[in-house]
Amino acid sequence: MNNPVHRVTLIPGDGIGPEVTAAARAVVEASRADVEFEPVLSGQEAERQTGTPVPAAVFESIERNKLVMKGPTYTPFGGNYRVAVERPGPDGKVTRRDYPSLAITLRKELGLYVNLRPIKNYPNIPSRYENVDLVIFRENSEDLYVGNERMVDENTAEAIKLITRGASERVARFAFDYMRRAGRGKITIGHKANVLKLTDGLFLRSAQDVAKEYADIAVDQRVVDALCMELVVKPESFDGLLLTNLYGDIVSDLAAGLVGGLGVAPGANIGPDCAMFEAVHGTAPDIAGKDIANPTAMILSAVLMLRYIDQGAAADRIDAALTAVLAQKKAITRDLGGTAGTRAFTNAIVEMLKI
Ligand code: NAD
Repeated sequence: MNNPVHRVTLIPGDGIGPEVTAAARAVVEASRADVEFEPVLSGQEAERQTGTPVPAAVFESIERNKLVMKGPTYTPFGGNYRVAVERPGPDGKVTRRDYPSLAITLRKELGLYVNLRPIKNYPNIPSRYENVDLVIFRENSEDLYVGNERMVDENTAEAIKLITRGASERVARFAFDYMRRAGRGKITIGHKANVLKLTDGLFLRSAQDVAKEYADIAVDQRVVDALCMELVVKPESFDGLLLTNLYGDIVSDLAAGLVGGLGVAPGANIGPDCAMFEAVHGTAPDIAGKDIANPTAMILSAVLMLRYIDQGAAADRIDAALTAVLAQKKAITRDLGGTAGTRAFTNAIVEMLKI
């Protein structure tokens, strides 16, 4: 009997999104994974056509499939841009909510409470460091990052930093469970509890309380600024990093730089019954539509997805093909020191998967 096919809602995204998601889709299809993609109209193109970047059909598709592969989506800097959604709650009553970006809309509406970002040296990707192998667990549902801001007066703006014990314990428990399953040894909690004694203090205490249930995983903590300095000096000394939403966002980009840049850093957003896989990078408007973008981060996000749905054999095939193409150095993108375009790099991986 054939394996059941996993249907995946595909959000191509904006900027380089359509290029890198097309690459990841081609590679997954060539890997013979039991996966089918269901593209949905979303992002800037949907906003132009329908007035919203996330039409109801996007949620309908995700509710059916419970799996999403998402390209980066555009958010204007500054101004008062919000993404509004109207969806029925469990009681059937339709309520209207709004969020500062499409990515945050999906993370919040789908209950994707952890953002998982593995950062490690990949064979044949040039980087300043060796032996980096980190997993970043970023709380994904609260903190300053939800964009709860207001103008107090014309010259004064404020943002609310909301931290709860429930959300902090939930992400901590995910992190400790993940580390245990992966046979890994230590979690470092990043915070600024010396200044933000109440909010970051609560996150730190909640995580430390959860840590008591996991005697097999060591736990320590760092003030986030000192953590950044140590990550740059000796990244190989860290294992798991547990961070609030905003620090997690910033530290992930820093950590991506340790292993070859944003072009190679994958990510997953995971909730109780749904998961969304997207690279750490954004829409890269400076290189969009030029066949320059490195699709590795999106391809590695798809590999995370395949492992999540127990398609480990296909994930291993992609890993091996990517490693081989990188080793040959003939068809790699500019950010990795090559001259190939997105499509040529992707085709080289697809050809390697046929061998
Ligand atoms: P960015 O990540 O798009 O780009 C930063 C730099 O990295 C640019 O120089 C870019 O060319 C380079 N880069 C990024 N991805 C690359 C790749 N795959 N290959 C080669 N080079 C790559 O960050 P930004 O410029 O701050 O943001 C642009 C837009 O993306 C904004 O609208 C932002 O809101 C959005 N964004 C979306 C997400 C998401 O959807 N999850 C995440 C981050 C940023």
